[in-house]
Amino acid sequence: MNSLYGTSKDIGENNIYAIFKLIYKNQPITRKELANTSSYSAATISNHVNHLIEMGFVTESKKGSSTGGRKPVNLEIISEKGYMLTINIEVDQVNIKLFNIKYEIVEEIIIEELYKNDVSRSLIKIFQEIKRILNHNPRFKEKLLGTGISVPGLINKESGKLVFAPNLTWENAPILDEFKAEFPDTPLFLENEAKASAIAEKTFAYPEIENMVFISVNQGIGCGIIFNGKLIRGATGNCGEYGHLKVTENGRRCHCGRQGCWETEASELFIYNKFNQEIREEKKYSQEEIYNLIAENHPLAVEISNLAADGLGKGVANVINSLNPELIVIGGGIIRIKEHISERFKQVVSRQALDLLWNSTEIAFSDLGKESANLGMAWIVREHGIISQLKL
Ligand SMILES: [Zn+2]
Repeated sequence: MNSLYGTSKDIGENNIYAIFKLIYKNQPITRKELANTSSYSAATISNHVNHLIEMGFVTESKKGSSTGGRKPVNLEIISEKGYMLTINIEVDQVNIKLFNIKYEIVEEIIIEELYKNDVSRSLIKIFQEIKRILNHNPRFKEKLLGTGISVPGLINKESGKLVFAPNLTWENAPILDEFKAEFPDTPLFLENEAKASAIAEKTFAYPEIENMVFISVNQGIGCGIIFNGKLIRGATGNCGEYGHLKVTENGRRCHCGRQGCWETEASELFIYNKFNQEIREEKKYSQEEIYNLIAENHPLAVEISNLAADGLGKGVANVINSLNPELIVIGGGIIRIKEHISERFKQVVSRQALDLLWNSTEIAFSDLGKESANLGMAWIVREHGIISQLKL
Protein backbone atom coordinates (compact mmCIF):
# COMPACT_ATOMS: atom_id res chain seq x y z
CA MET A 1 0.00 0.00 0.00
CA ASN A 2 1.26 3.46 -0.85
CA SER A 3 1.41 6.50 1.29
CA LEU A 4 0.02 9.04 -1.15
CA TYR A 5 1.52 12.01 0.62
CA GLY A 6 4.78 10.27 1.36
CA THR A 7 4.93 11.59 4.89
CA SER A 8 6.27 8.50 6.53
CA LYS A 9 7.73 5.60 4.68
CA ASP A 10 6.44 3.29 7.34
CA ILE A 11 2.78 4.21 7.02
CA GLY A 12 2.02 1.78 4.24
CA GLU A 13 3.79 -1.09 5.94
CA ASN A 14 1.93 -0.74 9.14
CA ASN A 15 -0.75 -3.35 9.51
CA ILE A 16 -2.85 -1.67 12.15
CA TYR A 17 -3.33 1.48 10.11
CA ALA A 18 -4.07 -0.61 7.01
CA ILE A 19 -6.73 -2.50 8.96
CA PHE A 20 -8.23 0.75 10.22
CA LYS A 21 -8.52 1.91 6.62
CA LEU A 22 -10.08 -1.38 5.54
CA ILE A 23 -12.72 -1.05 8.25
CA TYR A 24 -13.36 2.57 7.22
CA LYS A 25 -13.77 1.60 3.59
CA ASN A 26 -15.95 -1.46 4.10
CA GLN A 27 -17.86 -0.76 7.32
CA PRO A 28 -19.88 -2.34 8.74
CA ILE A 29 -17.65 -5.37 8.39
CA THR A 30 -17.00 -8.45 10.52
CA ARG A 31 -13.59 -9.76 11.50
CA LYS A 32 -14.15 -12.74 9.24
CA GLU A 33 -15.00 -10.54 6.26
CA LEU A 34 -11.88 -8.48 6.97
CA ALA A 35 -9.80 -11.63 6.81
CA ASN A 36 -11.50 -12.63 3.55
CA THR A 37 -10.95 -9.26 1.88
CA SER A 38 -7.32 -8.86 2.91
CA SER A 39 -4.12 -10.85 3.08
CA TYR A 40 -3.95 -10.63 6.89
CA SER A 41 -4.34 -13.69 9.04
CA ALA A 42 -7.31 -14.01 11.38
CA ALA A 43 -4.92 -13.69 14.34
CA THR A 44 -3.35 -10.45 13.05
CA ILE A 45 -6.79 -9.00 12.41
CA SER A 46 -8.04 -10.01 15.82
CA ASN A 47 -5.03 -8.42 17.60
CA HIS A 48 -5.19 -5.17 15.71
CA VAL A 49 -8.96 -4.86 15.88
CA ASN A 50 -8.80 -5.30 19.65
CA HIS A 51 -6.18 -2.57 19.82
CA LEU A 52 -8.31 -0.25 17.65
CA ILE A 53 -11.29 -0.90 19.95
CA GLU A 54 -9.20 -0.19 23.08
CA MET A 55 -7.95 3.02 21.50
CA GLY A 56 -11.52 4.11 20.76
CA PHE A 57 -11.25 4.15 16.98
CA VAL A 58 -13.57 1.25 16.32
CA THR A 59 -16.74 -0.07 17.89
CA GLU A 60 -18.57 -3.38 17.73
CA SER A 61 -22.23 -3.69 16.94
CA LYS A 62 -24.47 -6.69 16.63
CA LYS A 63 -26.97 -5.30 14.19
CA GLY A 64 -25.96 -7.52 11.29
CA SER A 65 -28.27 -10.20 9.94
CA SER A 66 -27.90 -13.65 11.34
CA THR A 67 -28.19 -16.99 9.65
CA GLY A 68 -29.15 -18.53 12.96
CA GLY A 69 -27.10 -18.94 16.09
CA ARG A 70 -24.86 -16.06 17.11
CA LYS A 71 -25.34 -12.71 15.41
CA PRO A 72 -22.25 -11.53 13.53
CA VAL A 73 -20.30 -8.74 15.23
CA ASN A 74 -19.84 -5.80 12.94
CA LEU A 75 -17.00 -3.35 13.21
CA GLU A 76 -17.44 0.35 12.57
CA ILE A 77 -15.32 3.47 12.85
CA ILE A 78 -16.35 5.82 15.67
CA SER A 79 -16.85 9.10 13.86
CA GLU A 80 -16.38 11.26 17.01
CA LYS A 81 -12.93 9.86 17.69
CA GLY A 82 -11.28 12.70 15.84
CA TYR A 83 -11.86 15.84 13.83
CA MET A 84 -9.98 17.53 11.02
CA LEU A 85 -10.22 21.30 10.63
CA THR A 86 -9.66 22.52 7.09
CA ILE A 87 -9.40 26.01 5.70
CA ASN A 88 -9.37 26.60 1.97
CA ILE A 89 -8.35 30.17 1.25
CA GLU A 90 -9.52 31.25 -2.18
CA VAL A 91 -9.20 34.59 -3.87
CA ASP A 92 -12.79 35.60 -3.25
CA GLN A 93 -13.75 33.47 -0.26
CA VAL A 94 -12.58 31.23 2.54
CA ASN A 95 -14.18 27.88 3.12
CA ILE A 96 -13.78 26.45 6.62
CA LYS A 97 -14.93 22.87 7.13
CA LEU A 98 -14.67 20.60 10.12
CA PHE A 99 -14.72 16.89 9.25
CA ASN A 100 -15.03 13.87 11.51
CA ILE A 101 -12.79 10.86 10.86
CA LYS A 102 -15.39 9.41 8.51
CA TYR A 103 -14.86 12.51 6.35
CA GLU A 104 -18.36 13.74 7.16
CA ILE A 105 -18.67 17.52 7.36
CA VAL A 106 -19.85 18.45 10.86
CA GLU A 107 -19.42 22.23 10.72
CA GLU A 108 -18.93 24.65 7.86
CA ILE A 109 -18.54 28.38 7.48
CA ILE A 110 -17.90 30.38 4.33
CA ILE A 111 -16.28 33.79 4.63
CA GLU A 112 -17.42 35.74 1.62
CA GLU A 113 -14.87 38.51 1.64
CA LEU A 114 -11.20 38.90 2.46
CA TYR A 115 -8.99 41.91 2.86
CA LYS A 116 -6.97 41.64 -0.31
CA ASN A 117 -3.95 43.63 0.73
CA ASP A 118 -4.10 42.90 4.43
CA VAL A 119 -3.02 39.42 5.44
CA SER A 120 -3.18 40.05 9.20
CA ARG A 121 -6.70 41.42 9.12
CA SER A 122 -7.82 38.57 6.90
CA LEU A 123 -6.29 36.01 9.24
CA ILE A 124 -7.94 37.59 12.28
CA LYS A 125 -11.29 37.18 10.55
CA ILE A 126 -10.48 33.55 9.72
CA PHE A 127 -9.37 32.88 13.33
CA GLN A 128 -12.63 34.32 14.68
CA GLU A 129 -14.69 31.98 12.53
CA ILE A 130 -12.54 28.97 13.43
CA LYS A 131 -13.02 29.70 17.13
CA ARG A 132 -16.75 30.02 16.57
CA ILE A 133 -16.81 26.54 15.03
CA LEU A 134 -14.58 24.95 17.68
CA ASN A 135 -16.64 26.47 20.47
CA HIS A 136 -19.82 24.77 19.26
CA ASN A 137 -18.78 21.58 20.98
CA PRO A 138 -15.96 21.01 23.51
CA ARG A 139 -15.27 17.68 21.82
CA PHE A 140 -14.12 19.43 18.63
CA LYS A 141 -11.14 21.06 20.36
CA GLU A 142 -10.40 18.08 22.55
CA LYS A 143 -10.29 15.63 19.68
CA LEU A 144 -8.84 17.84 16.98
CA LEU A 145 -6.32 15.82 15.00
CA GLY A 146 -4.94 18.85 13.24
CA THR A 147 -5.59 21.79 10.97
CA GLY A 148 -4.97 21.90 7.24
CA ILE A 149 -4.75 25.13 5.29
CA SER A 150 -4.81 25.28 1.50
CA VAL A 151 -3.84 28.42 -0.40
CA PRO A 152 -3.97 29.55 -4.02
CA GLY A 153 -0.30 30.26 -4.51
CA LEU A 154 3.32 29.29 -4.06
CA ILE A 155 4.32 28.08 -0.63
CA ASN A 156 7.56 27.40 1.16
CA LYS A 157 7.03 24.14 2.98
CA GLU A 158 10.04 24.72 5.24
CA SER A 159 9.12 28.19 6.48
CA GLY A 160 5.35 27.61 6.28
CA LYS A 161 4.95 30.80 4.31
CA LEU A 162 2.62 31.59 1.51
CA VAL A 163 5.36 33.04 -0.65
CA PHE A 164 3.36 34.40 -3.52
CA ALA A 165 -0.35 34.47 -4.27
CA PRO A 166 -0.62 37.18 -6.93
CA ASN A 167 -4.37 36.85 -7.41
CA LEU A 168 -4.85 37.22 -3.68
CA THR A 169 -2.14 39.91 -3.51
CA TRP A 170 -0.52 38.17 -0.54
CA GLU A 171 3.23 37.91 -0.49
CA ASN A 172 5.56 36.24 2.03
CA ALA A 173 2.70 35.71 4.43
CA PRO A 174 3.84 33.67 7.47
CA ILE A 175 0.62 31.66 7.51
CA LEU A 176 1.81 28.78 9.67
CA ASP A 177 3.49 31.05 12.24
CA GLU A 178 0.31 33.09 12.58
CA PHE A 179 -1.79 29.96 12.99
CA LYS A 180 0.67 28.52 15.48
CA ALA A 181 0.50 31.65 17.60
CA GLU A 182 -3.28 31.42 17.67
CA PHE A 183 -3.69 27.64 17.93
CA PRO A 184 -0.48 26.35 19.53
CA ASP A 185 -1.80 22.88 20.31
CA THR A 186 -2.89 21.67 16.90
CA PRO A 187 -0.61 20.13 14.27
CA LEU A 188 -0.68 22.40 11.21
CA PHE A 189 -0.33 21.64 7.52
CA LEU A 190 -0.01 24.09 4.65
CA GLU A 191 -0.51 23.09 1.05
CA ASN A 192 -1.19 24.60 -2.31
CA GLU A 193 -4.88 24.35 -3.18
CA ALA A 194 -4.41 22.42 -6.43
CA LYS A 195 -2.18 19.88 -4.71
CA ALA A 196 -4.69 19.37 -1.89
CA SER A 197 -7.38 18.88 -4.54
CA ALA A 198 -5.21 16.40 -6.43
CA ILE A 199 -4.96 14.31 -3.25
CA ALA A 200 -8.74 14.39 -2.84
CA GLU A 201 -9.40 13.43 -6.45
CA LYS A 202 -6.94 10.55 -6.26
CA THR A 203 -8.22 9.29 -2.90
CA PHE A 204 -11.95 9.75 -3.21
CA ALA A 205 -12.73 9.81 -6.93
CA TYR A 206 -10.00 7.86 -8.72
CA PRO A 207 -8.31 5.48 -6.27
CA GLU A 208 -7.23 3.13 -9.06
CA ILE A 209 -5.40 5.78 -11.12
CA GLU A 210 -1.65 6.00 -10.50
CA ASN A 211 -0.68 8.85 -12.84
CA MET A 212 -2.95 11.84 -12.98
CA VAL A 213 -2.89 15.62 -13.01
CA PHE A 214 -5.45 17.85 -11.36
CA ILE A 215 -5.72 21.25 -13.02
CA SER A 216 -7.43 23.91 -10.98
CA VAL A 217 -8.74 26.76 -13.12
CA ASN A 218 -9.84 29.67 -11.00
CA GLN A 219 -8.49 33.20 -11.20
CA GLY A 220 -5.14 31.53 -11.82
CA ILE A 221 -4.23 28.01 -12.90
CA GLY A 222 -2.70 25.53 -10.46
CA CYS A 223 -1.73 21.89 -10.90
CA GLY A 224 -1.33 18.89 -8.64
CA ILE A 225 0.57 15.95 -10.05
CA ILE A 226 0.11 12.38 -8.84
CA PHE A 227 2.88 10.19 -10.18
CA ASN A 228 3.12 6.47 -9.43
CA GLY A 229 0.37 6.96 -6.87
CA LYS A 230 2.11 9.76 -4.97
CA LEU A 231 1.77 13.52 -4.90
CA ILE A 232 4.86 15.12 -6.40
CA ARG A 233 5.83 18.19 -4.41
CA GLY A 234 9.25 19.26 -5.65
CA ALA A 235 12.11 20.85 -3.69
CA THR A 236 10.03 23.63 -2.12
CA GLY A 237 6.55 22.13 -2.50
CA ASN A 238 5.67 23.90 -5.74
CA CYS A 239 6.07 21.29 -8.43
CA GLY A 240 3.82 21.71 -11.46
CA GLU A 241 3.42 25.46 -11.81
CA TYR A 242 2.16 25.03 -15.34
CA GLY A 243 0.05 28.15 -14.93
CA HIS A 244 3.24 30.10 -15.52
CA LEU A 245 4.43 28.07 -18.46
CA LYS A 246 4.83 30.43 -21.35
CA VAL A 247 2.30 29.57 -24.05
CA THR A 248 2.55 32.66 -26.24
CA GLU A 249 5.17 35.22 -27.22
CA ASN A 250 4.34 38.79 -26.28
CA GLY A 251 1.15 37.69 -24.57
CA ARG A 252 -0.64 39.45 -21.78
CA ARG A 253 1.28 40.55 -18.73
CA CYS A 254 0.96 38.02 -15.91
CA HIS A 255 0.87 38.77 -12.17
CA CYS A 256 4.13 36.89 -11.91
CA GLY A 257 5.86 39.61 -13.91
CA ARG A 258 6.29 37.66 -17.13
CA GLN A 259 4.26 37.69 -20.31
CA GLY A 260 2.20 35.03 -22.05
CA CYS A 261 1.82 32.63 -19.13
CA TRP A 262 -0.82 29.92 -19.55
CA GLU A 263 -3.04 31.43 -16.85
CA THR A 264 -3.25 34.72 -18.75
CA GLU A 265 -4.84 32.80 -21.66
CA ALA A 266 -7.27 30.45 -20.00
CA SER A 267 -8.15 31.31 -16.40
CA GLU A 268 -11.32 32.83 -15.00
CA LEU A 269 -9.41 36.09 -14.76
CA PHE A 270 -8.79 35.92 -18.51
CA ILE A 271 -12.52 35.51 -19.14
CA TYR A 272 -13.36 38.31 -16.72
CA ASN A 273 -10.80 40.78 -18.06
CA LYS A 274 -11.36 40.04 -21.72
CA PHE A 275 -15.14 40.27 -21.48
CA ASN A 276 -15.16 43.51 -19.55
CA GLN A 277 -12.58 44.97 -21.89
CA GLU A 278 -14.45 44.02 -25.07
CA ILE A 279 -17.99 44.84 -24.00
CA ARG A 280 -16.95 48.45 -23.45
CA GLU A 281 -19.58 49.27 -20.88
CA GLU A 282 -19.13 51.29 -17.75
CA LYS A 283 -20.52 48.48 -15.67
CA LYS A 284 -18.09 45.73 -14.71
CA TYR A 285 -19.64 42.31 -15.16
CA SER A 286 -18.90 39.81 -12.42
CA GLN A 287 -17.56 36.34 -13.14
CA GLU A 288 -20.97 34.97 -12.21
CA GLU A 289 -22.77 37.30 -14.61
CA ILE A 290 -20.40 36.42 -17.44
CA TYR A 291 -20.95 32.70 -16.83
CA ASN A 292 -24.69 33.30 -16.95
CA LEU A 293 -24.28 35.14 -20.26
CA ILE A 294 -22.28 32.21 -21.65
CA ALA A 295 -25.12 29.90 -20.63
CA GLU A 296 -27.56 32.24 -22.42
CA ASN A 297 -25.42 32.19 -25.58
CA HIS A 298 -24.53 35.86 -25.47
CA PRO A 299 -22.31 36.17 -28.60
CA LEU A 300 -19.37 38.01 -27.01
CA ALA A 301 -19.44 35.86 -23.87
CA VAL A 302 -19.46 32.70 -26.01
CA GLU A 303 -16.63 34.03 -28.17
CA ILE A 304 -14.53 34.59 -25.08
CA SER A 305 -15.35 31.21 -23.58
CA ASN A 306 -14.16 29.73 -26.89
CA LEU A 307 -10.87 31.59 -26.53
CA ALA A 308 -10.56 30.27 -22.99
CA ALA A 309 -11.25 26.74 -24.27
CA ASP A 310 -8.46 27.19 -26.84
CA GLY A 311 -6.09 28.47 -24.18
CA LEU A 312 -6.99 25.64 -21.83
CA GLY A 313 -6.38 23.10 -24.59
CA LYS A 314 -2.96 24.55 -25.38
CA GLY A 315 -1.78 24.19 -21.82
CA VAL A 316 -3.32 20.77 -21.25
CA ALA A 317 -1.49 19.53 -24.37
CA ASN A 318 1.78 20.67 -22.77
CA VAL A 319 0.90 18.86 -19.56
CA ILE A 320 0.13 15.67 -21.47
CA ASN A 321 3.30 15.90 -23.58
CA SER A 322 5.48 16.42 -20.54
CA LEU A 323 3.88 14.06 -18.01
CA ASN A 324 2.02 11.35 -19.95
CA PRO A 325 -0.76 11.02 -17.34
CA GLU A 326 -3.55 8.46 -17.56
CA LEU A 327 -6.05 11.06 -16.46
CA ILE A 328 -6.43 14.82 -16.32
CA VAL A 329 -9.09 16.22 -14.02
CA ILE A 330 -10.14 19.82 -14.56
CA GLY A 331 -11.54 21.55 -11.50
CA GLY A 332 -12.02 25.03 -10.08
CA GLY A 333 -14.58 27.68 -10.99
CA ILE A 334 -14.25 27.02 -14.73
CA ILE A 335 -16.29 23.82 -14.40
CA ARG A 336 -19.35 26.06 -14.28
CA ILE A 337 -19.02 26.30 -18.09
CA LYS A 338 -17.75 22.78 -18.78
CA GLU A 339 -20.52 22.01 -21.28
CA HIS A 340 -19.55 25.08 -23.28
CA ILE A 341 -15.81 24.52 -23.42
CA SER A 342 -15.38 20.76 -23.25
CA GLU A 343 -15.56 19.79 -26.90
CA ARG A 344 -13.56 22.70 -28.22
CA PHE A 345 -10.81 22.36 -25.67
CA LYS A 346 -10.45 18.64 -26.32
CA GLN A 347 -10.11 19.37 -30.05
CA VAL A 348 -7.23 21.74 -29.33
CA VAL A 349 -5.59 19.15 -27.08
CA SER A 350 -5.93 16.48 -29.76
CA ARG A 351 -4.23 18.74 -32.31
CA GLN A 352 -1.39 19.79 -30.03
CA ALA A 353 -0.61 16.75 -27.90
CA LEU A 354 1.40 13.85 -29.28
CA ASP A 355 -1.00 11.18 -30.55
CA LEU A 356 0.69 8.37 -28.69
CA LEU A 357 0.23 10.20 -25.37
CA TRP A 358 -3.16 11.75 -26.08
CA ASN A 359 -4.66 8.42 -27.08
CA SER A 360 -4.00 7.04 -23.63
CA THR A 361 -5.20 10.09 -21.69
CA GLU A 362 -8.67 10.49 -20.23
CA ILE A 363 -10.01 13.94 -19.47
CA ALA A 364 -12.65 14.54 -16.82
CA PHE A 365 -14.19 17.47 -15.02
CA SER A 366 -14.13 17.29 -11.25
CA ASP A 367 -17.17 15.86 -9.51
CA LEU A 368 -15.87 16.87 -6.09
CA GLY A 369 -16.01 20.51 -7.19
CA LYS A 370 -15.50 23.05 -4.45
CA GLU A 371 -15.15 20.36 -1.79
CA SER A 372 -11.91 19.01 -3.14
CA ALA A 373 -9.26 21.21 -1.49
CA ASN A 374 -10.87 20.90 1.98
CA LEU A 375 -11.26 17.18 1.52
CA GLY A 376 -7.62 16.83 0.48
CA MET A 377 -6.47 18.74 3.56
CA ALA A 378 -8.76 16.59 5.74
CA TRP A 379 -7.06 13.53 4.30
CA ILE A 380 -3.59 14.91 5.11
CA VAL A 381 -4.60 15.81 8.66
CA ARG A 382 -6.31 12.46 9.28
CA GLU A 383 -3.35 10.54 7.95
CA HIS A 384 -0.95 12.30 10.32
CA GLY A 385 -3.32 12.43 13.25
CA ILE A 386 -4.30 8.80 13.32
CA ILE A 387 -0.80 7.56 12.68
CA SER A 388 0.59 9.59 15.56
CA GLN A 389 -2.19 8.36 17.87
CA LEU A 390 -1.56 4.78 16.92
CA LYS A 391 2.10 5.55 17.72
CA LEU A 392 3.38 4.01 14.55
ZN1 LIG B 1 2.94 34.03 -14.83
